Amino acid sequence: MRSEKVIAMSDVKQVAGQRIQPAHCDDHGPFEQRVTVLLGREIVGRCPECERKERTEREAKQRAEDIRIKREAMAKKLGAALIPKRFADRTLDNYQVEHEGQRKALAFCRRYVAAFAEIERTGRCLMLLGQPGTGKTHLGAAMANDLMRATSATAVYRTVGSILQSIRATYDRNNEQSEADILSSLIEPSLLVLDEVGVSKEQPSDFELTTLFAIINGRYEQMRPTVVISNLSGDQLPLAMGERCVDRLREGGGVVVPFDWESQRGKEGF
Ligand SMILES: [Zn+2]
Repeated sequence: MRSEKVIAMSDVKQVAGQRIQPAHCDDHGPFEQRVTVLLGREIVGRCPECERKERTEREAKQRAEDIRIKREAMAKKLGAALIPKRFADRTLDNYQVEHEGQRKALAFCRRYVAAFAEIERTGRCLMLLGQPGTGKTHLGAAMANDLMRATSATAVYRTVGSILQSIRATYDRNNEQSEADILSSLIEPSLLVLDEVGVSKEQPSDFELTTLFAIINGRYEQMRPTVVISNLSGDQLPLAMGERCVDRLREGGGVVVPFDWESQRGKEGF
């Protein structure tokens, strides 16, 4: 014996070749079921809520797949992960706050990530400047990681040294990446975190200055924000990356976050 409820003929409507009858979904309750007869076969409509839910899930899956493909294409051009494995576990939540300076810096970085939709429109840059060992790298990598976890943005973390090295490596004929590939993989991402600016303490070479300008100016022209991390002060930065670069970083309301407290490194044990 069939367990379905008997449908009273008075509840069944005929609309444009379709029969509409009351039905019941276990998850969503009663709904109007459409039955179409096609070539002598009945095609029974499903619960519209169930269909809507499945469509939403399908679209979310497709979006996630599109993001994955975009990030993989970028990583392929770079010849490595967008964020090096070493920094993949850095998040804003696991940044250790031990005093007021760090609390302020963290709050600033949180606001930057939270307002990123707006920052993407203005291209506003951020400069984390100050003493070594104050957690600037952690915060920079964390912003990139958190953005990629929470949004469809693409973010790349690189040190200046690693960029110069990977561009030099493209001069080898057997290298799969070209210099243009690497430059575009640093200009295309929604966010670039550029660490260890001016770390060498030496006068930067023309190659270094030209490369930095190509990246910073390329991003500036696309109105894409860059986070620059350096142990130098705002006054010293032009010596390390060139006046023109620093001008580009400051335009559009670039902000300096000072890390002007003493290093925490080596304070816990030996
Ligand atoms: Zn349903």
